[in-house]
Amino acid sequence: MSERPTDLLKRVFGYSQFRGHQQAIVEHLVAGNDALVLMPTGGGKSLCYQVPALLRDGVGIIVSPLIALMQDQVEALRQLGVRAEYLNSTLDGETAARIEQALLRGELDLLYVAPERLLTSRFLSLLDRSRIGLFAIDEAHCVSAWGHDFRREYLELTILHERWPDVPRIALTATADPPTQREIAERLGLNEAQRFVSSFDRPNIRYTVVQKDNAKRQLRDFLQQHRGEAGIVYCLSRKRVEQFADYLVEQGFNALPYHAGLDADVRAHNQRRFLREEGIVMVATIAFGMGIDKPDVRFVAHVDLPKSLEGYYQETGRAGRDGEAADAWLSYGLGDVVLLKQMIEQSESGEERKRLERRKLDQLLGYCESLQCRRQVLLAGFGETYPSECGNCDNCLHPAATWDATVAAQKALSCVYRSGQRYGVNHLIDVLRGSDSEKVRQCGHDQLTTYGIGKDVDTATWRSIFRQLVASGLLEVDAEGFGSLRLTDASRVALRGERRLLLRRDTPSRERERAPRSG
Ligand code: ADP
Ligand code: ZN
Repeated sequence: MSERPTDLLKRVFGYSQFRGHQQAIVEHLVAGNDALVLMPTGGGKSLCYQVPALLRDGVGIIVSPLIALMQDQVEALRQLGVRAEYLNSTLDGETAARIEQALLRGELDLLYVAPERLLTSRFLSLLDRSRIGLFAIDEAHCVSAWGHDFRREYLELTILHERWPDVPRIALTATADPPTQREIAERLGLNEAQRFVSSFDRPNIRYTVVQKDNAKRQLRDFLQQHRGEAGIVYCLSRKRVEQFADYLVEQGFNALPYHAGLDADVRAHNQRRFLREEGIVMVATIAFGMGIDKPDVRFVAHVDLPKSLEGYYQETGRAGRDGEAADAWLSYGLGDVVLLKQMIEQSESGEERKRLERRKLDQLLGYCESLQCRRQVLLAGFGETYPSECGNCDNCLHPAATWDATVAAQKALSCVYRSGQRYGVNHLIDVLRGSDSEKVRQCGHDQLTTYGIGKDVDTATWRSIFRQLVASGLLEVDAEGFGSLRLTDASRVALRGERRLLLRRDTPSRERERAPRSG
């Protein structure tokens, strides 16, 4: 009679009980079945394969793309007395040969291996001569072609099932997005596998979205509450990373840059400092973060809009892994919407991909503009219903005021129409406000019936109206890249005033900028 899972959990890992779905997953695997595990970061995925690997005969093979994480896990397991090893490109030939021998002699409980290594015919034939207890495929979303962590080798992992049909497989990911989950099941040949989906809620993270008017100043004000604490500031481009890192250093923060344009040494050095020192603010592109296991990250700030809600969830999920209070803060403005929409339209991607990217961006914009509890919107994006208002997001803590913008929206839309759907927001606001600008006169727009009909509304409010119209699909950004706005099918309904339009009343800002991209 073999040991019971809870006994092994206590004996080897020193934990008194399993969390969430862990026990069900362990039993499912021990019985020889396949599983697809969806669990948020910090949820405890590792035990889901470590425990069954120890309970089953033979070695557990763990495929992981993250070399640093592999090493950490193996070290931790060895301290618990588990016979764990890893094989990747960092090992010298002699060490690798020693581990291969141990594998063949059946002296390993767990063997971590990088996918490219696993797929070599040499390693596959070693496995043929070994006794295998299970295969675990970690970071399984790497198989998704749409994701930014895509690894080509992951596509070939179906070979595991073809070659060893009787060995149970477990694929694990912190990806919450249902289309990606389906893609994982399909591409890894796990359609028949049982799915274990945990709640993706991170209750200790407080979500806040602010309307961008001066991103640097707003960031500085936000960071005042986090002086001396570790955090990440995400920017859209390398240039923005440099600018924000310099700015924060000027403001007395211990900030470091991280992006793919820096030398590998500099990147590694900055990452090490972030992990080891206290209170470092990492200003980074999304190149930074995957596999970063730092429990006390107190905030994740986005000064530019991420590309999808899924991406946003992953990036903010790096905050508060220790369970203590943490902030996810996002500053967002009209310029972000226009820029990201243009990036999609101008990219070289095919129509199918563009459609997907548009849908993802719209989902994110829905989150940004929502008047509802942010947590509800975020989790709904992953097919999860959050039962009540969370009380730990900006919309719960300070509900936004709304106003009836039906008439204002009609004025804005009709101004777009009358001026020929060829102008960007600054010009449109000039026309609405009856500005005496050179361009307005040159275009003859002082002759339009919409000239000056919006004098009673200030420029910032007009920007807020236009932003919400674009975000909700009542206006679209042109594909040519000049930022001109056009009507959509939905605009016509709004133009006729058939639907009352409630918009968010943005809190007034101290400094207002005219440029579409501020900060
Ligand atoms: P993930 O890979 O899902 O991000 P980990 O497997 O690294 O999460 O686990 C996160 C933390 O939670 C680890 O420190 C782990 O030891 C701890 N943990 C996981 N399961 C349990 C449990 N049943 N009891 C106590 N601690 C646990
Ligand atoms: Zn809430």
